[in-house]
Amino acid sequence: MVRRSLLVLALPLLAACAGAETPDTGIDDAAMADETREDWVSYGRTSNERRFSPLTQVDDATVQGLSPDWYVVLPDDKGLVSTPLVVDDVLYFIGSMNIVRAVDATSGEPIWTYDPRVRDYADRMRVGWDHNRGIAFWGDKVYVATWDGRLNAVDADTGTEVWSATTIDPSLPLYITGAPKVFDGKVLVGNGGTEHGPARGYVTAYDAETGEQAWRFWIVPGNPADGFESDAMRMAAETWTGEWWVHGGGGNAWHGFTYDEELNQLYIGTGNGSPWNQKIRSPEGGDNLFLSSIVALDPDTGEYLWHYQDTPGETWDFNSNMDIVLADLEIDGEQRKVILHAPKNGFFYVLDRTDGSLISAEPFTEVTWASHVDPETGRPVENADARYPDGRTVIAPGPLGGHGWHAMSFNQETGLAYFPGIHASYVYDDTNIDHATWRSEPWVGGLGVEGGFGASLREDNVFSTLQAWDPVRQELAWEVPLPGVYSPGTLTTAGNLVFQGRLDGIFAAYRADTGEELWTHDVGLGISAPPITYAVDGKQYVALLVGFGSVMAAVGGAGVAQYGWAYGEHDRMLVAFSLDGAATLPPQPDPVVPIPREESFEVDAELAARGAQVYAKCSWCHGNGAIAAGMTPDLRSSRIITSLERFAGVVRDGERAAEGMPMYPDITLDDLVGLQHYIREQAELALAARREAGG
Ligand code: CA
Repeated sequence: MVRRSLLVLALPLLAACAGAETPDTGIDDAAMADETREDWVSYGRTSNERRFSPLTQVDDATVQGLSPDWYVVLPDDKGLVSTPLVVDDVLYFIGSMNIVRAVDATSGEPIWTYDPRVRDYADRMRVGWDHNRGIAFWGDKVYVATWDGRLNAVDADTGTEVWSATTIDPSLPLYITGAPKVFDGKVLVGNGGTEHGPARGYVTAYDAETGEQAWRFWIVPGNPADGFESDAMRMAAETWTGEWWVHGGGGNAWHGFTYDEELNQLYIGTGNGSPWNQKIRSPEGGDNLFLSSIVALDPDTGEYLWHYQDTPGETWDFNSNMDIVLADLEIDGEQRKVILHAPKNGFFYVLDRTDGSLISAEPFTEVTWASHVDPETGRPVENADARYPDGRTVIAPGPLGGHGWHAMSFNQETGLAYFPGIHASYVYDDTNIDHATWRSEPWVGGLGVEGGFGASLREDNVFSTLQAWDPVRQELAWEVPLPGVYSPGTLTTAGNLVFQGRLDGIFAAYRADTGEELWTHDVGLGISAPPITYAVDGKQYVALLVGFGSVMAAVGGAGVAQYGWAYGEHDRMLVAFSLDGAATLPPQPDPVVPIPREESFEVDAELAARGAQVYAKCSWCHGNGAIAAGMTPDLRSSRIITSLERFAGVVRDGERAAEGMPMYPDITLDDLVGLQHYIREQAELALAARREAGG
């Protein structure tokens, strides 16, 4: 790494001419728009977010020869969901606890590690989601958003922090799991939290060089009595009713940012309502702008330009935070500049991105909440019982959506978009909820509606498929049934290939035009991250992070625990494949489903009932019923629960903050004791069921 050593030596000189316009690596808007590059310089590879690589060394004829070339074992990592970046010959990625590493892209040799020390914020962060979907690159810096709400700029050569901006008020139940978006010398960051308390979404842009705030765009209006931040908020407030601001309103943009350099527009995908139930949030109805929309902003000022709302009056957790992919398509004999978007509500949208008008929308999965999208008005035509008018309804899709955040790729040569579709119905039930008095408490959170996942509505009962969607014809070209529910994202290449990892640990390549499976490799652990590809010195690599994670690994409960990717049992890895790869991945243990520990601990039902209330906070990471799905230790098999002293050390005093366990300094002894009894009660129930089953 001679080149890098020279750069390090030259740093004082560079600092002396601060303000120079030319960045070290040349990563700017032009570089991010360059389709011919062989590396992977932004979240969606290039600024059109297509995740389409022009590389053809690995193609539909040679892919059978793909094998591991190098790997890095990541012993301290847990759920890995991010897209690595490759600039020239260095690969950068964000892992657990938002730690960023730079490694040699041809060998995995470490170059630097940057630790933003999120553990120091463990008293602030009450949701231990220490994963993040990606980082951004601009000039000579890497941009890193942290779960506690900081946006940090890091020197790309040395990994040292250059500046840090705080983007969320620490008293609010907000957090960040999304990649920052860089454009035109600015860095945009959003946040999540609609389910974790009263939340009001916004995005903020910072100067990439200095970290100074450039602008902020609020997504839903606040209390009119406080005045509106913008004309857009004044307009949006007309579409809300009741005292929505008490509940926050929601709309949090935690994913789905695209910069359109050609039209000088920035598109943000907005979130669902806070709370989910519109009868609470906005009791007289209304569209509730700008929930569940694509909003186009002026990148220079953050001013509103236009919006398309896919789910007016959202009441099902149908956010629109999914990838916003730019394409130029011939539709009805006309060249159109379009957005491709497959949000949670189950319709695939093709929008005219010059003004946000609807070109077409068709269901890509089972959709029972609306019959169709009216091409004249651009609005969905809802079915009569969709809004659970009598308290309870079963519809599809559910809160996981027909498609989640998992990367969608688009291949202009096949004309197809590739993404994992979800096929789950959901029971929405607010029969037992008093709309007038319901409130959510910060960090405990709540939805304002109860429910649970129902069946797949497919005849084959499959919950997840890899879908190849033709956006011009608005129809499915091909599909592949997948294991599990929440499958990871895709990559497509000019070699007529689609790559996707699976929840059963299989990494697979398919023919992009037909879906024929051409190659698989078993990495021994469920995959949740999307793959990338790049070339260095004429050699093509396909790389991905291996580490079962994301929201279903937190809240998925028994249905996900059964996959066997229990916390800490399998090696987390960064793996790169090539056609002449000769590495052998480390052997992985068989799948492990945690078994509750036998303990001599007498459960008191009353204390357990109190603990069940307290546990509502814990369930966001440790799973409903204390059944961990893989992101966290299974508390029913924990050795420390029955020792009040050790338990308090972890929960109250933050002894495991370095591993991602938030600390709750204010928790009372009574609450801790309640938790003990609740967790042991759940353990005893599971043990009794095992004995009953003869297990
Ligand atoms: Ca949500």
